[in-house]
Amino acid sequence: METPRKQTTDPLLCPSYVSKPGAKLFGIQNSEGKIDYLKETITIDQTFVDTAQQGRTAEERFRFAGKCIEKGCHQWNDSAHQCGLVSAIIERMNSPLSDAPQHCPIRNRCRWFEQRGMEACANCNDVIRNLEVHHFAAITA
Ligand code: SF4
Repeated sequence: METPRKQTTDPLLCPSYVSKPGAKLFGIQNSEGKIDYLKETITIDQTFVDTAQQGRTAEERFRFAGKCIEKGCHQWNDSAHQCGLVSAIIERMNSPLSDAPQHCPIRNRCRWFEQRGMEACANCNDVIRNLEVHHFAAITA
């Protein structure tokens, strides 16, 4: 699939970011374990982080985005100059492309979309539901 161009010069965002002040909340896990994507992102603060970290981790119930730090992340494939995580998720989940892709408020800056286009989006909302993949996806930056 052709790599889409991002429509902004702003830095790309990692869509598997941690819950920390300044992160952008963009998805909430629904009762079926899928992600409901927000219309717009919400920048979270320390109060949100403290409140959300009860029982399950915030990363198991919400999706956050933050600046892709490339070489600073253990998922970064330096020789390919790409995030290695999205390819691993697509290979593992192998979800079909949707005729009606979900709205996503970070699409024009998403690292995964930049690399894999709608293939990334088709496999994105299972990332939390499948805990094994989610652990695989955990970014500790
Ligand atoms: S892969 Fe697609 S759905 Fe997932 S965060 Fe990126 S743009 Fe949004």
